[in-house]
Amino acid sequence: MPARRNRNATFRHRVSPGGKPSRKKKSDKPSKSRCALCANVLGGVPCRSPAALSKLAKTQKRPERPFGGVLCSNCLAQVIRDKVRLQQGLISKEDVDFRRLKFITSLKRTAQ
Ligand SMILES: [Zn+2]
Repeated sequence: MPARRNRNATFRHRVSPGGKPSRKKKSDKPSKSRCALCANVLGGVPCRSPAALSKLAKTQKRPERPFGGVLCSNCLAQVIRDKVRLQQGLISKEDVDFRRLKFITSLKRTAQ
């Protein structure tokens, strides 16, 4: 372990075999995944480096539901509600938030 004065959150200080001091930037932590609509932090999505993510199983990388890893559960519930109301003719497309239209149209039909 290097001396406390040589430790830093951003850089790793080393002395090469030739005696030359060097510093190497530590890799940045990846940012947390956020919802595409409300930008809340997504639950069930691990925040790890691509190398660490590749060692996880597919089902451990995002929730197993429509738009898992893209939308939070609240926004998905609203998208499903809007889709059903559009199908029933209770509302028109103009009444729906335009940001949700993309997800409403690409939401696959589920069992009836
Ligand atoms: Zn959301």
